[in-house]
Amino acid sequence: MAKITIENLRHSYLPEPKRDEDFALKRVHLDWADGGAYALLGPSGCGKTTLLNLISGLLHPSEGRILFDGRDVSNETPERRNIAQVFQFPVIYDTMTVYDNLAFPLRNRKVDEAEIKKRVTSIAEMLELTSTLSKRASGLTADGKQKISLGRGLVRSDVNVIMFDEPLTVIDPHLKWQLRSKLKELQHRIKRTMIYVTHDQTEALTFADQVVVMNNGEVVQTGTPIELFEKPKHVFVGHFIGSPGMNVMPCMVKGGKAFVDGHEIAAGNAALSNGSSRLELGVRPEFVTFASKGLPVNVVKVSDIGRYRVVDTRLGENSVKLIVPEGAAIPEGKAHLAFDKAHTQIYNDGWLAGEAR
Ligand code: ATP
Repeated sequence: MAKITIENLRHSYLPEPKRDEDFALKRVHLDWADGGAYALLGPSGCGKTTLLNLISGLLHPSEGRILFDGRDVSNETPERRNIAQVFQFPVIYDTMTVYDNLAFPLRNRKVDEAEIKKRVTSIAEMLELTSTLSKRASGLTADGKQKISLGRGLVRSDVNVIMFDEPLTVIDPHLKWQLRSKLKELQHRIKRTMIYVTHDQTEALTFADQVVVMNNGEVVQTGTPIELFEKPKHVFVGHFIGSPGMNVMPCMVKGGKAFVDGHEIAAGNAALSNGSSRLELGVRPEFVTFASKGLPVNVVKVSDIGRYRVVDTRLGENSVKLIVPEGAAIPEGKAHLAFDKAHTQIYNDGWLAGEAR
């Protein structure tokens, strides 16, 4: 296993890139600890697969370096980098048994049969494949086949990193949760550096200890699921993570105080904002409550999600959503809101005011 360092990495698919827009990856710095569980999360086209392919060596970066345990591997072949990769769709040998599929990467590396048996049996048990070991892989369902792919990634002990690229795409929705928890449990048990690429926030947040959120070829925030929820460093993270996402509204700051639509709102970092930038105020629906006095709003919609309701209100031109627990009263028409100051933040040109980028 290895610590992975990504230094000033840029990548363009164009032969002579000039402007920032020419780069699929604009500039990425990352430090991934040995044995950590990481997720790369972002919308389609943000550069996740490009970054994965640069790490695995399928692509060569236009600029920057990739280091494994301090050793520059930027010019090494994928084989030399010694990475296990699990793709969106199962990669298996249909004519072989499940056992032989799992044993394949080990036999390739001349591991002795007794050791192979030990490892295959243990991985099969973790993935609940034991009863299928002597069956042909072709007879398994799509879920079963993808479990074999996962197992082939996990069975080797000598890899520097295991990378999963949207590995649950073909998995039946009701099994996704089960397999996701299993992967997390496996990561804790075998302590390998793992990188999980997905556009699904639930998958990223349940698997990873640290989530790297990407947008438009850039890393916008790296943090624990709680950090991303409580302190989004960019309005994009606020929108993308959470359901519904963070409320974001244009604001003004005067004398260290924030105002939305003429109403003063207490925000933790208002004094740190930069007057010459585009200012926005962000607060998650979880940190907004109905109050007897406060911001005057109109309630426009209530959606029942089961254990709670999402209430959509209007503050002037702005939409403000809040989450109301089951059983709590929801006013009709005119109402007042209070924002939790500690979780109400000002953003300068999209970035959290007062925070280093
Ligand atoms: P998805 O989740 O859809 O796979 P992604 O986040 O993995 O998206 P990438 O596939 O890395 O994103 O794509 C990043 C950008 O690079 C996109 O604008 C895409 O169109 C572009 N791109 C990707 N592969 C190529 C290629 N082979 N040639 C040219 N442009 C490419």
